[in-house]
Amino acid sequence: MSRTVRDQILSRLAGIRDPERGRDVVASGRISGLTVDEAGIARIMVETTPDRAAATEPLRREIEQAAAGVAGVTRAAAVLTAERTPGRGPGQAPRGGAGHSHNHGHSHAPTGPAAGQRPSAPVVPGVTAIIAVASGKGGVGKSTLAVNLALALQARGLKTGILDADVYGPSIPRMLGLQGRPDSPDGKRITPKIGWGLKAMSIGLMVEEDTPLIWRGPMVQGALDQFLRETDWAPLDVLVLDMPPGTGDVQLSIAQRVPLAGAVIVSTPQDIALLDARKGLAMFRKVEVPILGLVENMSWFTCPHCGGRSDIFGHGGARDEALKLGLPFLGAVPLDLDVRIMSDEGRPVVAVAPESEAAAPYHAIAAGVVESLGRVRREPPRIIIED
Ligand code: ADP
Repeated sequence: MSRTVRDQILSRLAGIRDPERGRDVVASGRISGLTVDEAGIARIMVETTPDRAAATEPLRREIEQAAAGVAGVTRAAAVLTAERTPGRGPGQAPRGGAGHSHNHGHSHAPTGPAAGQRPSAPVVPGVTAIIAVASGKGGVGKSTLAVNLALALQARGLKTGILDADVYGPSIPRMLGLQGRPDSPDGKRITPKIGWGLKAMSIGLMVEEDTPLIWRGPMVQGALDQFLRETDWAPLDVLVLDMPPGTGDVQLSIAQRVPLAGAVIVSTPQDIALLDARKGLAMFRKVEVPILGLVENMSWFTCPHCGGRSDIFGHGGARDEALKLGLPFLGAVPLDLDVRIMSDEGRPVVAVAPESEAAAPYHAIAAGVVESLGRVRREPPRIIIED
């Protein structure tokens, strides 16, 4: 991401007055997220409340246009979000709109959901199990794992789909080599794209066009609900959900609202040391989503020249952590240059070279996921005591 372009956007946005809050849109806290990727695409989160979404639309457009005018920005997409709705208490998550309220150190107290509460989960007919792939932070290889895990599940004969819920940096279209908007023959149902046999949907497929379908539905959570309910997923054995990185409110809201059969947590060895993944565990436990297991990514490096193996980040942390926490350890994936090159080219290793050494860890992880899924289905629901 380019910092300078981001800073320029922010200073341009500081010139836009927020009519509701009487200050400029940056000072008023209206901008709840801003990223600029290498291609110069700016994605801006504009905060609103579900009842003010329509009224905030002109401001959203003004912000989008201002960002699009900044040198270095090739395209700007501003989206309304309602993640910090003031005044809503636990259990009052709005239906069909954004998730519950909660804040990131802002003016009001956190108002998380009661433990175990999973309000208004959208139903996805014809999909047997939805599993989330989550991580404590970005850049640990979560999307790479989600894609290759989905392909490895498919290789086991399961009908598999992948839903990219990473609204901050949707990378599934690139990793599967997909482009263009999905079809909607009747204007209501969405036909998923097919990438290497996987049914796939991503918010990233929607930001290409001038009048993207998705941004009309103002809430990110609403968009995700829409993707779940209005995409022709059926029949699927497994739908892999690539979660946004982190364990904040957006993630918690998804974990609450989507009827997840379980979650896979991916971490790098050094993040396990920092206990980032633990937050992910706590988040899923809070909403009673079973943890299917931990994966350690970029676990060791095999030199392509001499074949020597280096544990550059102190490999094995996730296995130890899984043991400590009584969770299945699903496997370790080495840092592999081919994995990176191929996934960045839209040629995931499990699809292109299923028999290769690089694909083997993903097949093993898929086997572990299937096993864990069978186990959690047989277990009675746990009773969660809120602390
Ligand atoms: P996240 O979803 O956690 O942000 P990504 O899956 O987008 O992470 O991966 C970040 C980068 O790391 C990508 O360029 C990807 O190709 C690369 N990567 C992920 N896993 C591996 C691996 N095992 N070996 C080499 N590169 C990897």
